[in-house]
Amino acid sequence: MRDLLQEYDPEVFDAILGEERRQQSELELIPSENYTYPEVLAALGTVFTNKYSEGYPGNRYYGGQTYTDVIERLACARARELFGADHANVQALSGAAMNQVVYYALLEPGDSILAMDLTHGGHLTHGSPVSHMARVFQFHRYKAGADGRIDFDEVLRIAEQVRPKMILCGHSSYPRELDYSGFRRVADAVGALTMADVSHVGGLIAGGQLANPLEHGFDVVTTTTHKSLRGPRGGLILSKGEFAKKIDKSVFPGLQGGPHMHTIAAIAVALKKAAEPEFREYAARTLSNAQVLAGRLLEHGAQLVSGGTDNHLMVVNTVGSYGIEGRDAQKLLEEVGLATNKQLIPDDSLSAQRTSGVRLGTPAPTTRGMGAGEMTAVADLFVRALQNKGDSDGAEAIRSEVRALCARFPAPGPLLPTSA
Ligand code: PLP
Repeated sequence: MRDLLQEYDPEVFDAILGEERRQQSELELIPSENYTYPEVLAALGTVFTNKYSEGYPGNRYYGGQTYTDVIERLACARARELFGADHANVQALSGAAMNQVVYYALLEPGDSILAMDLTHGGHLTHGSPVSHMARVFQFHRYKAGADGRIDFDEVLRIAEQVRPKMILCGHSSYPRELDYSGFRRVADAVGALTMADVSHVGGLIAGGQLANPLEHGFDVVTTTTHKSLRGPRGGLILSKGEFAKKIDKSVFPGLQGGPHMHTIAAIAVALKKAAEPEFREYAARTLSNAQVLAGRLLEHGAQLVSGGTDNHLMVVNTVGSYGIEGRDAQKLLEEVGLATNKQLIPDDSLSAQRTSGVRLGTPAPTTRGMGAGEMTAVADLFVRALQNKGDSDGAEAIRSEVRALCARFPAPGPLLPTSA
């Protein structure tokens, strides 16, 4: 198949090779990225992409659904089993779509949602003013307290004031574990629905290492499938049985047309992988690696938002630690082969394009098989790269060390060796 593509479209083929080389020779520290399984890539590149399957198993608009029904039933059953959910919908095309689906399923335009502030760790799809959702629903904000942790007295105070229809928790840059029972108590006090977007930590919940909001009585849980869960790009909506019909109708015909059945096949494969004992070990190692990485950065004097991490990610205040804006730190790190992303810190005075920090995490290096020793080395390289800004020989030496580390821990998948 690769030969066929190479011969027919060398421009596209060369870009794929280039990306494979980049992924092999750089260390991916962006906490929302990962290397998926070869089996998942195999399922993605299949003839399921040819098929229209609007509707749900047993009730589709077109014929020829024998195998699509098998795939979607399998994916839903595996998702329900893995997360202990009454209901699962696997059709959302992405994380953004999955969250919109839930808002439209359970709320009316103009209803209010209480969600986490973006600079404190919340996500764009939780009603950022630049998103369309902010034009449809009224979003109110809670923040982390001075210690970097959520203060539930404050969340309750805001909830009593704004009387939200839904309380939303979940994050893309909050480095602490969420207390779902705390959110539940606030929601119960004001009669709100509860939704957790666990996109970042879905794999760590599936792997039994972090708390599962469904076990704390949450109404709906959403997660992307491509981050710590190591699946293809997609969205998974888990809910109590009473919301099943509303959510399914909100996905189709509410927001989307035909589901991407090749992706759903690949989600089914990833969910099978996530139920295996090795995945529990992977999730545990992702967390212990984050502890080592954060601990070593702190030893070097780096300022971490909230002083550390309980999960797979951390945010380094690069302005406070090194006098370097996040945008410039990301660039310096990329030049030495460390992929991170610029990140707003709580109440950041800089714009989202500049930022005062960078975010990093351990899901991808853990997938490569790295452990405590490598995380210590990565922290050292990170600090050297930022402390020795402007030293081009020093940067070249760091780049070689990163390359050597990556060569010792190849990324999985049909990727070329680093030397190719
Ligand atoms: N929700 C959270 C918490 C996320 O971190 C992300 C992506 O980073 C999304 C939703 C959106 O997912 P997608 O990029 O697949 O639309």
